[in-house]
Amino acid sequence: MEPSRFACRHCGDVVIDRRLLDALLALQGKVGRPLVILSGYRCPPHNRDIGGELRSYHTKGQAADIRAPGVPIMALFQAALEIPAFRGGGIGLYLNRKFLHLDIRPQRFRWIVPPRNALPNKTHSH
Ligand SMILES: [Zn+2]
Repeated sequence: MEPSRFACRHCGDVVIDRRLLDALLALQGKVGRPLVILSGYRCPPHNRDIGGELRSYHTKGQAADIRAPGVPIMALFQAALEIPAFRGGGIGLYLNRKFLHLDIRPQRFRWIVPPRNALPNKTHSH
């Protein structure tokens, strides 16, 4: 995992909650492959620009969108469920773009975005 990848893509600021970092490192250890961070911290203007939710956990340094190359998305999802901070927090399964949103919100929350060719289902929210 490349910590610099956690910085806001727009301004380079970095805010990361230690508990998120620890949970990501634990997940990385579990899958045995380096995690790739697609989106980590987002400053509020950047979050707004990309259409993120107003109170997104990304703006608190408490969320990351990740992949682990070589690890199937469902295997990554199962591994995340074994990490207490994620099991008890937010997990969004993006089957359309094959990544996982993980956050350490204080209550369990799950959502799934179906593959592109599936029938429309739910919205995404993070
Ligand atoms: Zn920014």
